[in-house]
Amino acid sequence: MSNVLDTSKESTFMGHPKGLFVLFFTEMWERFSYYGMRAILMIYMITEAVGDNPGMGMLEKDALAIYGWYIMLVYVMSIPGGIIADKFIGQKKAVLVGAIILCAGHGVLAIENDTAFYSGLGLIILGVGMLKPNISTMVGGLYKPGDIRRDKGFSIFYIGINLGSLLATIFVSLVAKYYGWHAGFGLAGIAMLAGLLFYLAGQKHLTFVGNKPEKVKNDESSIGKLYGKLLKSPVQLVITGILLIISFVAGLSMDSFDKWGYVALFVFISLVTGLLMMVYKDLKSKVMQDRFVVLLLSFLIVIVFWGAFEQAGGLMSIYTENKTDRFLFGWEVPTAMFQSLNAAFITIFAVGVAGIWARRKLKGKESSSLFKMAIGTMIMGSGFIFMIFAATEFENSGSSSMIWLILAYLFHTIGELCASPVALSFITKLSPIKYGSLMMGVYFAATGLGGKVSGIVGEAASSFGEYKIFAGITIFTMVFGFLMILLLKPLKRLTHGAEDNEREIHTDETEGFELADESNV
Ligand code: GLN
Repeated sequence: MSNVLDTSKESTFMGHPKGLFVLFFTEMWERFSYYGMRAILMIYMITEAVGDNPGMGMLEKDALAIYGWYIMLVYVMSIPGGIIADKFIGQKKAVLVGAIILCAGHGVLAIENDTAFYSGLGLIILGVGMLKPNISTMVGGLYKPGDIRRDKGFSIFYIGINLGSLLATIFVSLVAKYYGWHAGFGLAGIAMLAGLLFYLAGQKHLTFVGNKPEKVKNDESSIGKLYGKLLKSPVQLVITGILLIISFVAGLSMDSFDKWGYVALFVFISLVTGLLMMVYKDLKSKVMQDRFVVLLLSFLIVIVFWGAFEQAGGLMSIYTENKTDRFLFGWEVPTAMFQSLNAAFITIFAVGVAGIWARRKLKGKESSSLFKMAIGTMIMGSGFIFMIFAATEFENSGSSSMIWLILAYLFHTIGELCASPVALSFITKLSPIKYGSLMMGVYFAATGLGGKVSGIVGEAASSFGEYKIFAGITIFTMVFGFLMILLLKPLKRLTHGAEDNEREIHTDETEGFELADESNV
């Protein structure tokens, strides 16, 4: 059987499989490199190409567009990354390959040259695509279906993510400020190397998870076969064909320098939609099919959530740089450092927020993943109210206080804690095992599409002004979250009780099991 997880010999630390902590530290260093680089990317691009520490001297509008494409592609590549793991090498090797590519990517960015800059971004896109969905699926693979510790495991993992981000945004931005941009990029590369070495050293705790899938005889589910079947399925074929035509027409009719990028993106989405329809057909039971549908619907929330949230690195970053009074006791706080607020708040509040939801669950109150995701979107959206205050203050006095940013990031973080680790855990509860990494990849691609949407919304600020953009985001996210709550009952029905009757199931009770395999439902 593929990916059989026999954890009977697995030892634990703090009540969780030790493998969790190997993945925790690997991801911590990977996120150090990712967020460290991301924190300085935007400012590096828009800094004038002259002076002691020259940037690339780009127009804000162009830099925002590149930023949007970059954030999107980083996560969209999770789909091929997930497929490669599911079908060929398993998650464990995929993470290793991703980590090696990332070391190369960050290393190349340390070179002062435009070609190196774009090649480095390309390598990071490929590396994150291989690593990110697969390491997250591996976390889910450490727990048995129905084990209540899974959500907590993901919250712990999420702290690792943000510890990396916190350290990175502080140290990479300081190194970039005092030693130059490329030294900052180089530091991100060293961090990734640390992650790779940590991962290699911890392999003994990951023996039973993320292994290469065994070839199943007559496996009907290889991607090639699914596309072969698509050609013989009239309804799905027509839908895919129509989407492809719309992709070309919509992309080409855009009046934008990057219209071919959009054509490629829309074509990719159409082909993935065709694939997902065939995956649905391939699932044998109604329960698995319904769960698959609810997962895809939940990805809509994901797009809206990250579409608003990702303003952090884009519009909010520019706002911080240009319109915020950043002096604290006479010292000018570097813009990039504000991004560490999100990570710091996560590290502080992750356990508390998880505890609040756990207590609600014990009292029998609504605490399904979908509910948490909807509430999280609303809380995050309400954070933009503080940005409305900031924009008003700037219009009145020519500068705005950093307290508004701090409050906005606080609300964004509480919202993120309700939505994001929960979504990761939810995916590993509902996905059929043979498509586990693919579904994680589609999830991250949805977060990436959200990132792209955030870039488009951010660019619109140059025409509409920040005030209107911040107000629009607030209203949209609140209304959207509210609508999701209204739809909660029918959506929950489609999960067929995947989150009911969760209890602690210690892994040492287990003789071996598969994740949400079709035989388990
Ligand atoms: N901040 C989280 C991470 O880096 C979530 C990012 C995302 O899902 N787009 O993992």
